[in-house]
Amino acid sequence: MPAVKYAGCGPGRVPGAGKEDVSDEPLFTTEQLDAEVLGPTGRPLPDLPEPTPPHPEGERNALIIALCNQKGGVGKTTTTINLGAALAETGRRVLLVDFDPQGSLSVGLGVNPHTLESSIYNVMLGRGVDVHEVLLPSGTENLDLLPANIDLSAAEVQLVSEVAREQTLRRVLKPLRPDYDIILIDCAPSLGLLTVNALTAADKVIMPLELEFFALRGIALLTDTIEKVQERLNPELEVLGILGTMYDGRTIHSREVLARVVEAFGDMVFHSVIRRTIKFPETTVAGEPITSYAPTSGGADAYRLLAREVLARCPGA
Ligand code: ADP
Ligand code: MG
Repeated sequence: MPAVKYAGCGPGRVPGAGKEDVSDEPLFTTEQLDAEVLGPTGRPLPDLPEPTPPHPEGERNALIIALCNQKGGVGKTTTTINLGAALAETGRRVLLVDFDPQGSLSVGLGVNPHTLESSIYNVMLGRGVDVHEVLLPSGTENLDLLPANIDLSAAEVQLVSEVAREQTLRRVLKPLRPDYDIILIDCAPSLGLLTVNALTAADKVIMPLELEFFALRGIALLTDTIEKVQERLNPELEVLGILGTMYDGRTIHSREVLARVVEAFGDMVFHSVIRRTIKFPETTVAGEPITSYAPTSGGADAYRLLAREVLARCPGA
C-alpha cells in the first residue's frame, strides 16, 4: 500500500456544497464498462465479468471482510447492507455482522436492537451460547444478520480482562465459516478493542471514505492500526480496497477529493463510487437494502458493480 499522503485537501480549497442530493443516474452504464471509458476515478474501467454462481457443491469457507473507518457517517453500515445484498443476489450466502453497539446495521435491516433477546454480545462473553441461535434472517434471500445492540459497548470493557481478547470475534465466527460464502463485519466508528477484534477476524478490509474535505484525515491512524494487527495478530489481513462514498459529481470539490484519493491510493481505490442520494437514508427507514427498495436505481447498480469488483479481487469467493 502506498504511503498515505494528505495531498490536496489542505487550505485554499473551498468545500463544495456537497450535501444536497444529486441525480440518481448511474455513474456509468454496462455499455460504458464494455467500452473501457474512463470512470469517475479517472481510470479506464476494467472488464468485470458477470459473477458466476458460487461453490455449487461442497463445504463453504467464508471470506471475511471488515468495513472499517474510525470516522462515523462515512457509509460503513450502508455499504455493509447494500454490498451484502448485492453479493447475495449473485447466489452467495452472505452473513452481515453488526459490530457497532449503536446497532445501525440491525436497524437498517428492520430489526429493533432494543428488543433482542440475545445478540453478538452474548456469544462473545457468554459461555455456551450457540452463535447459530443468535442469527436472524434479513428478509432478503441468502442474507442473514448477526445483530448487535448497546450491550456490545460493555464488551469493550469486559474483554480487556479476557484471555486472547483480540481473538474473540474470530472464535465466534469460526463455526459460521462453513455456512457462508462471505461474511461482512460492520465496524464501530473507533479504533478500540472491538475494531481490533474485527481486523483480527477478517481476511480483508474495505475502507469507505466520504468524498469530502476531510476524507483523508485519520486514514494514517487507520492504516497504522491495520499494520499493527497484521504484524501482531493477523498476518493474513489485506486491504481489499478503498471505496469513495457520498460522491457529488456536480461539484468540483467532490471530483477533486476523489482525484486526491486516487493519487494517494492508486489502484486500491474501487472503480465503483457511491453517489450521495436520499435513497440511502430512505432505505434505512424502510429497513431493507437498496437492491430491493429501489432495484433499478443508480445506487443499487453502484453496489452491484462494487460486488463484481470485490469478487474479481477475491477469486474463489
Ligand atoms: P457509518 O456506518 O460509517 O457511520 P452510515 O452508512 O450509517 O455511515 O451513513 C451515515 C448516514 O449517511 C446515514 O444516515 C446514511 O443513510 C447516509 N448515507 C450513507 N450513504 C449515503 C449516500 N451514498 N448518499 C446519501 N446518504 C448516505
Ligand atoms: Mg455505522
